[in-house]
Amino acid sequence: MNLSTSLYTIAGIGPSLGKRLAYLNLNTVEDMIYHFPFRYDDFSNITNALESQVGEKVTLQGEIWSIRNIYTRTRKVLTQAVFNDGTSPIELTWFNQSWLTNQIKTGDRLQVSGKVSKYKNKISIMAPVWEKMNSEFRIQNSELLHTGRLVPVYPETAGLTSKWIRAKVDQVLPKVIDEIEDPLPSDIRAQMLELREAIKLIHFPDSYKDVENARERLGFDELFLIQLATLKTRLEWKDKPAIEKLQVTRYKKQIEEFIKSLPFKLTKAQEKVIEEIKEDLQKGQPMNRLVQGEVGSGKTVVAAVIAYIAHLNGLRILYMAPTEILAFQHESTLNRLLEPYGIGVGIYTGSKKFNRIKDERLMIKEKNHQSSIINHQSFPDIVVGTHALLSDKLAVEDVGLIIVDEQQRFGVEQRGLLRSKARVPHFLTMTATPIPRTVALTLYGDLDLSVIDELPVGRKPVKTYVVPSKKRADAYEFIRKKVKEGDQVYIITPLIELSETLITVKAAKAEFERLKDKIFPELKLGLLHGRLKSKEKEQVLNDFKDKKTQILVSTSVVEVGVDVTNATIMVIEGAERFGLAQLHQLRGRVGRGEKESFTFLFPGIEDSQTVSRLRNLEKTYDGLKLAELDLKIRGSGELFGTRQSGRFELKIASFSDLSLIEKTREAAKKILSKDPTLDKYHKLKVKLLAFGSGVMPD
Ligand code: ADP
Ligand code: MG
Repeated sequence: MNLSTSLYTIAGIGPSLGKRLAYLNLNTVEDMIYHFPFRYDDFSNITNALESQVGEKVTLQGEIWSIRNIYTRTRKVLTQAVFNDGTSPIELTWFNQSWLTNQIKTGDRLQVSGKVSKYKNKISIMAPVWEKMNSEFRIQNSELLHTGRLVPVYPETAGLTSKWIRAKVDQVLPKVIDEIEDPLPSDIRAQMLELREAIKLIHFPDSYKDVENARERLGFDELFLIQLATLKTRLEWKDKPAIEKLQVTRYKKQIEEFIKSLPFKLTKAQEKVIEEIKEDLQKGQPMNRLVQGEVGSGKTVVAAVIAYIAHLNGLRILYMAPTEILAFQHESTLNRLLEPYGIGVGIYTGSKKFNRIKDERLMIKEKNHQSSIINHQSFPDIVVGTHALLSDKLAVEDVGLIIVDEQQRFGVEQRGLLRSKARVPHFLTMTATPIPRTVALTLYGDLDLSVIDELPVGRKPVKTYVVPSKKRADAYEFIRKKVKEGDQVYIITPLIELSETLITVKAAKAEFERLKDKIFPELKLGLLHGRLKSKEKEQVLNDFKDKKTQILVSTSVVEVGVDVTNATIMVIEGAERFGLAQLHQLRGRVGRGEKESFTFLFPGIEDSQTVSRLRNLEKTYDGLKLAELDLKIRGSGELFGTRQSGRFELKIASFSDLSLIEKTREAAKKILSKDPTLDKYHKLKVKLLAFGSGVMPD
């Protein structure tokens, strides 16, 4: 057996268990030993039944006096045993484990651990963990696995209990531990545990101090590798072959004129970011920049200015957005801004391919650049699209600038694929996800970062209220009144599953019907969800923009980007299912005009914890603060998307551990400054290669 041995081949693990393991992403022995416990049960308190207090976690040693299965009316099985440790007999109860009576017999000596409870006035332990002892009532400390110590608890899946995983780890770990090589050079490892020791202790610690030390070391490795990967990519990017510098000064006048022609004055922050990007374009190296800016901070227009500059330099532009709705919207914005300059903007989504390009526009283009256009007549200067842009069918020449909006919605591979559509393009990505700077530097350490940290003037904070169910009717009345005054409303239906499945859509339809028939029969409502055909989506959105409908009922697809200034109220159903930062992004859809605007959060669960989490949105309008709060409340991270996944999954470290982030970043910088190729750090390089295949280039 070695680290890469497939778990299937290990005695006691057949195909069916193998499948369950694969479900946890456990395929090899190495995966298994890197499957870390997420908490520990402290069963180190070895005591006796007489002195055990209700609610206490204890370990007892004693003898089974009797054991039997009881079948309840609901076809459940209870296994009940009387257990005596010589001080006072107590009851042990297990649920649905009828096979236990084959394993535990009257007269067996056991050590059991669990939480003490009182049942019908008798002391008992529900679902205790147990292990057998020899006849002397003794277990060598080293034999203890499930009881009498700090017992690791693992992420489980149906049919794989912590107890089973624990036993397997205990079985395989000693056989492969010597194979584990510590990739850290000793000066970086410094006072931290050796890797072997850390792995042993994370599974089988003797104390919480051990756990802490092991976590420190393993967490360090995790973040350190991310830092190395991103910093190294950044270095390599800087070494890319030089490309032609774009002309910015030559077109100074045109650029200024274009900016002057915008319907508003740019904010200082927008100007600053445009300057940063201009610098990139003139460097003679491909740009690789992330623009981060709150919802509504005006990223699109920044992208438009940059696209214009690229166009002046004779480059073609691809602009990718995560949803069709958003792609349509960008296309229409860019058209409005750039058409007067004779620039053709086309759309490319699953259902629409350039069919908006009018012949006149091609004519204008032809006039402007006689020679270059001939071969690519059917191609617009700027192609806005969805994932469809990645299709093989779309062959693009001369692409020199790629813009990715809402980049967090795309996977690494997708971004890589888009980039490969051009030889050495300038790459501009944008996100509204507020990420604390240190975290951004880690996750996106390979990118240059620009922040639009200012909203256009005149934006009023969106008044936000968590609305209890008994106030729901009042909220509807308020909405009715506002609609009569000419305002428009979004109603967001609950996110039932992570992605927009049929179930989510069904729920949205049901809510739409309810609102239309029962609550607002006199108003016009539209329904928007991801499963509509693109024509329908466009229609629904246009009707809302044109005020033909007053209320837009929608799944959270409007989260990204939709821009309707007259909408002033946003209702979010099932608000607890979203992360705070996500809710903040949603409410950014309103409050875009001069009028006062509102967000009503309707929680589906009204316990105090949920409500107080949501209340943060009543008090805070700072997306970054809310993101940090999400990080802190990260326990239920997956659904809230706070793991910032899509890029790196953290098993043990946390993006909220700023000091570890700093420390690993410094260490990575230090080692790369000594040896940029890591040739002298072979083990580290191997580790990095294994880790980083999906990472670079982003
Ligand atoms: P986001 O950064 O969320 O993508 P958008 O680009 O959609 O934001 O811009 C939000 C709204 O703000 C749009 O209606 C846009 O026209 C407007 N806007 C952008 N910049 C300014 C500005 N400097 N002053 C006033 N309004 C602006
Ligand atoms: Mg946007």
